[in-house]
Amino acid sequence: MVIAVYYWLAAHDLWPGAQVALYVSANGGFAAACLVVAARNRDLRPVMLMLAVAAGFGVASDLLFYILALVYDEVAYPSIADVGYLAAYVMMAAGLLMIVRRRTPGWDGASGIDAAIVAVGAGYLTYEFLVAPTIDVTSGNLTTLVSVAYPLGDLMLMMVGARLVLGAGPRSPSLYLIAGYLACCLYADTAYTIQSLNGTYQPANYLDAIWIAGSYLFAAAVLHPSAAKMIAPSQVTTPDATPARLTVLAIAAITAPTSLLVQYARGGEPHVIAAGIACNALFLLVLARMAGLVRAQRLAAITDGLTGLRSRRYFEETLRHAVERAGRHGEPLGLLLLDIDHFKRVNDTYGHGGGDRVLIEVTHRLSQLVRPGDLAARYGGEEFAMLLPGATPEETMEVAERIRRGVSAAPIAVSDGVLCNATVSIGAAGVPALRDVEELVLAADRALYAAKNAGRDRVAAAA
Ligand code: GH3
Ligand code: MG
Ligand code: MG
Repeated sequence: MVIAVYYWLAAHDLWPGAQVALYVSANGGFAAACLVVAARNRDLRPVMLMLAVAAGFGVASDLLFYILALVYDEVAYPSIADVGYLAAYVMMAAGLLMIVRRRTPGWDGASGIDAAIVAVGAGYLTYEFLVAPTIDVTSGNLTTLVSVAYPLGDLMLMMVGARLVLGAGPRSPSLYLIAGYLACCLYADTAYTIQSLNGTYQPANYLDAIWIAGSYLFAAAVLHPSAAKMIAPSQVTTPDATPARLTVLAIAAITAPTSLLVQYARGGEPHVIAAGIACNALFLLVLARMAGLVRAQRLAAITDGLTGLRSRRYFEETLRHAVERAGRHGEPLGLLLLDIDHFKRVNDTYGHGGGDRVLIEVTHRLSQLVRPGDLAARYGGEEFAMLLPGATPEETMEVAERIRRGVSAAPIAVSDGVLCNATVSIGAAGVPALRDVEELVLAADRALYAAKNAGRDRVAAAA
């Protein structure tokens, strides 16, 4: 609405004072929103006050600029208003850094490196397309210094913004709104510099809309109920290396060589082209290798070393999700807890190595007996757990009985020529009889205990 009125006034060259007021109201609204939140929420107060100061500097600089424009026909450049604009950048970066510190109070090295990769890529582009051409066309030390300070200020915001968005912490709507604000500012500032360099900039062109929209996005970010959550300390310290993150890092890292390639491709400097291609290829290969290492490490963290089955922690997390899903969709689900009978005797008779052989062979037999989509895990020393999504109580009992018979069907070779008979006791429980995951596990455990008490080598269903 405000943007539409602003353009209507600008288009009809009406009331320059009202245009100024509307333009300034964007940053003013942003500052007011921060002050309102600061008054209401003590926890958010320091951050909000810093952001309000930043927005305040923006408002003051806008007003100063328009006053200078009214008094003098042509505003000198650089002027006192530029000092205010540049100070606003520093305050804004400080405010965003305060949010980052609240989200990750410790030293999150991985996110810092991710942000640095993005910043170096963006920094190169800033130098190539904004700073170097600006130095070429400006004359006078102060003019050059101030003109270069703007893209560098944007780069600073971009660095802090990248650290905020790429760092660990809750992904709340407020965070996305701030990311939107930063995107608006960076786009409009960059387009403004390029248009100024080309001589195509027109006052009150579409860029004002983006600047105004950016301020409103920030005001919305601080007023949104999720603002408090945005500054909550993160549970995880290091964010996961997701495909989206790796893609962002890859794009950032190939900017400089790619830009070289594009510039030299027409000129035909074979050495530069070859070096550019090699840099890009090497970087992408190193990244692919690293992504592979991350994947392997993640798999190792959820895999049991002896049997290769999934770990108890992974099983419990999967079970939790499966129980929630089953409850939501009104589908059944089966849970089995297995324990090898008299396993201490196996260890005592055949040694720990013999016991390990039994564990490995039981795992092998279990894997042959389950359907795709079922999950088997090593739940404890000689205990196993099985998740049977979609299995009715009858099917769960059938599977359990099949497993019990399958495990004890043939003796297990514990060493060359030495055989040992192993049996398992199984406790079964399921959704929909039990819908709470803790109750479900407890019921299966009780059933297992009952199977043991009833003489072992048998299946018991939860009462
Ligand atoms: P029950 O029929 O009542 O289950 O008798 P049990 O002997 O199996 O009793 P319990 O479950 O208390 O004993 C488990 C034994 O499993 C104790 C422990 O030494 C052994 N164990 C646990 N982890 C391993 C392992 O990784 N390798 C070997 N060889 N033994 C293990
Ligand atoms: Mg046991
Ligand atoms: Mg046992």
